[in-house]
Amino acid sequence: MTDIVLGKVHLVGAGPGDPRLLTVKAHDLIERAGVILHDDLVPAAVLAVAGPQTKIVNVGKRCGAKAITQAEINARIIESARRGLDVVRLHGGDPAVFGRLAEEMDALEEAEIPFEIVPGVTAGTAAAAALGFSLTDRRRSSRVFMVSGHRASKNAPQERTNWQEVAREDTTLVVYMPGNDFSSLREELLAGGLSQDTPAILVSHIGMPEQQQRAATLADLDKLPSMDTPAVLIIGRTLDRVGRHEQPDDTPHSIDSVSSLVSSF
Ligand code: SAH
Repeated sequence: MTDIVLGKVHLVGAGPGDPRLLTVKAHDLIERAGVILHDDLVPAAVLAVAGPQTKIVNVGKRCGAKAITQAEINARIIESARRGLDVVRLHGGDPAVFGRLAEEMDALEEAEIPFEIVPGVTAGTAAAAALGFSLTDRRRSSRVFMVSGHRASKNAPQERTNWQEVAREDTTLVVYMPGNDFSSLREELLAGGLSQDTPAILVSHIGMPEQQQRAATLADLDKLPSMDTPAVLIIGRTLDRVGRHEQPDDTPHSIDSVSSLVSSF
């Protein structure tokens, strides 16, 4: 059991959205929290774990009409802790993966408020489990590269990723926030030397009832249909095994010839 110190802040990962993928520690903290400040990514099923005493506040970037800044989120966390509440700052997935965790820790350190980090299952590893492949495989992939789609976009030249470095046959590439235009990513990876037949999968709502995925190869990456957010794009040889256990009966779920539906085991 976890003892909550009064006024302490817990920076907690909620996993991909299925409450059964919460850690026991995250579950305890959510259940006993005085206040939960959560991302848009955290679904109602996870928030339902909170007790009747918990005040639940959405500090997601898309909440309401007004965009909330990171400075405002930091201020709310600090204010709640100063009021002596048990604060759970609940991030989708793992707080340390594209979660602005570093900025929140900086603010808490500056305010001299104690905090702890509770990891969660990140979308990339949840996708591997849901689709039935391994992110690394000593025969095929010795590296995993997690990248934000903003870096994959031509609109952010100052943040450009060196795709020549990334485009290696022995790398599994996990693109968070991939957007829905993959043409420049396709060009960069092909120019970097990846083969046309490298498998790719776009998967949305991982681990939730509305999970959907579409498979392609690097050659037809730009033809992947757009999908509901949140979604991750995964590219690499270790995806070869996905779909091997496909059931013929599942075909109604496929939307076109590049579709792949993975059976549940
Ligand atoms: N901290 C989160 C990532 C936050 S960035 C984590 O560790 O997973 C937000 C991006 O995460 C989304 O745009 C999407 O790319 C990915 N993501 C998070 N949860 C997801 C889910 N259930 N299904 C698919 N993608 C997800």
